[in-house]
Amino acid sequence: MSNLIKRRTFLKASAISAVALVPASGPSLATASSASGGFTYEVTRTRAEWRALLSRSEFRILRRGGTENPNSSQYSRRMPRGTYKCKGCGLTLYESSWKVVLDLGWVFFKHSRPNAVLTSIDDNPSYDTSAMSQDAMIEAHCRRCGSHLGHIVNVRDQLLHCINGASLRFAQA
Ligand SMILES: [Zn+2]
Repeated sequence: MSNLIKRRTFLKASAISAVALVPASGPSLATASSASGGFTYEVTRTRAEWRALLSRSEFRILRRGGTENPNSSQYSRRMPRGTYKCKGCGLTLYESSWKVVLDLGWVFFKHSRPNAVLTSIDDNPSYDTSAMSQDAMIEAHCRRCGSHLGHIVNVRDQLLHCINGASLRFAQA
């Protein structure tokens, strides 16, 4: 475990007061489905089916709880009006009017649609949490297929959904 922590690089993101989101170079062990505890998601797929549906990096993020590199998604910037759906199953999760555009590299929303996003405790996030004030991270995943979306974090005194663009598919209104 200590070796894993040592391998992780810590980049201070000064704009994020309480959290720093830095993708780890090491393996990510956190998965949304691991928190299911017998709960069966409405949409389930075999590992092979997920591999066929998603790109390599999308699989790492959605199914392994990974975190995309900052600014790797166009969705982190201003977008036309529309909705953001789960890339794993197509469930509509967020609307553009709830989006908060921050120059931090990920996609932020004030909240999700009702009955769209579930949360769990992420005790093994895929990035260094040493600068965080929280005891544990709150992980956000799709209610219908369990795919990892991101985390719920405190940014500039706002509790926001900090979401990987790779977990979303935008549909213009
Ligand atoms: Zn889904």
